[in-house]
Amino acid sequence: MQSYYQASRNIETDQPNLVSDVEADVCIIGGGYTGLSTALYLAKEGVNVLLIESDKLASGASGANGGQVSGGMRRDQFYLEKTLGVDYAKVLWGIGEKSKYHAKDLIDKYQIQCDYKKGIAHPNHKQKYCSESQHYVEHMNEHYDYHDIQYLDDNEMRETSGSDTYYGGSYDEGEAHCHPLNYALGIAKAAISAGAKIYENSPAISYKVNDDHVKVITKEGSIKADRVVLACNGYLGNLEKNLTSKILPMNNYIVATKTLDDKTVQKINPKDIAFADSRFVINYFRLSADKRLLFGGGENYSQELSSNIVPIVRNPLEKIYPFLKGVKIDYAWGGKLAITMNRLPFFTTLHQDKVLSAQGYSGQGVALASYSGKIVSEKITGDGETFDIMAKIPRQSFPGGRFLRNPSMKLGMLYYALLDRL
Ligand SMILES: Cc1cc2nc3c(=O)[nH]c(=O)nc-3n(C[C@H](O)[C@H](O)[C@H](O)COP(=O)(O)OP(=O)(O)OC[C@H]3O[C@@H](n4cnc5c(N)ncnc54)[C@H](O)[C@@H]3O)c2cc1C
Repeated sequence: MQSYYQASRNIETDQPNLVSDVEADVCIIGGGYTGLSTALYLAKEGVNVLLIESDKLASGASGANGGQVSGGMRRDQFYLEKTLGVDYAKVLWGIGEKSKYHAKDLIDKYQIQCDYKKGIAHPNHKQKYCSESQHYVEHMNEHYDYHDIQYLDDNEMRETSGSDTYYGGSYDEGEAHCHPLNYALGIAKAAISAGAKIYENSPAISYKVNDDHVKVITKEGSIKADRVVLACNGYLGNLEKNLTSKILPMNNYIVATKTLDDKTVQKINPKDIAFADSRFVINYFRLSADKRLLFGGGENYSQELSSNIVPIVRNPLEKIYPFLKGVKIDYAWGGKLAITMNRLPFFTTLHQDKVLSAQGYSGQGVALASYSGKIVSEKITGDGETFDIMAKIPRQSFPGGRFLRNPSMKLGMLYYALLDRL
């Protein structure tokens, strides 16, 4: 089944296949937010940059996601302060804030029509989490001078979400949501206009690092480049073996219902905001511009995306909104995200800095991955400060390493998913 985003895309960006041997200063592998924004910023700096995408642009997570433009990192400030110290946690918060503003700046500057709207609520599915949410809001107000976030009590959250299954939680008006595919294609269009050369349907099969260049081999051609950027995220596969034990691909799924009537729309989402709940396997949802419920929930670790997505997502959707039982689903799709052990992004350089990698956003990449392109391009053109801060985030290998990480993680995740239901 086609995705709702594909059906409502408003930009065409068809690019040729690479069928010859070419040269570039920088070769980017992967045409999602990370790769496309790296291409944009490098092209703007006059760098001879070439991007290859194995499928169509934004055919990975960037064109399939929940569209939530979140702040901070995937882990909250309490976790970051505890594990990395208050100072480092505050620096990472600052980068997350910049990434949010950066997304809005790109949208404004390149006039990207992607239904950008403010607000994400984070409802709790268990009452015992509410005092922590309240404490978090106070902490962010007092210690981060961040006042876009407020606490909603049980009644307010139920009125805002139209679901009696939720208790209180936070509401962050500094966060936002958008049509993720049109946002990605808007960045692609800007990169092409700035002079980036882009090839679709041109998978990198391997690359070889030589003394003075890197040779990337594609299906029908090759690229000789000074530097390579790996921007493959959940689709990296075995392209760089030094990374595979640190990044685990995971499949996540979304459905779009039929267009809902005004009464239902008013009931389930009167503020037209996005929601991301407190479950370990998060339920996230919002309305599309044409008033469908876009509901994400359910994940698995199989190599291929499921061919039967509707039952996976209908189940949590009907738990949150029992009155939508049996609602017609018009679209269902999925994508691969890349998680890391600590759920924080994984930036690194490899092979004497000839290869740069920015991946592992762990499900929070709409703002962060598109900002990463700026961070990576700055590292290449000479100001590596932010890249180096990101690269200092501690990283661990998944238990089981390259070969067994998938089965052992699957067990761990099943355990936490079970806790969601208790
Ligand atoms: C269902 C889903 C919902 C999500 N919801 C949200 C959300 O609401 N908010 C949020 O912030 N984040 C969300 N995320 C995460 C977010 O989408 C990602 O973090 C972000 O898109 C990562 O961008 P990227 O460019 O790094 O990777 P991708 O967009 O996955 O792009 C990687 C690209 O690399 C290409 N590629 C891989 N290997 C090769 C190769 N060998 N040669 C050439 N090309 C290659 C792939 O085809 C792909 O297009 C979600 C993810 C999923 C899957």
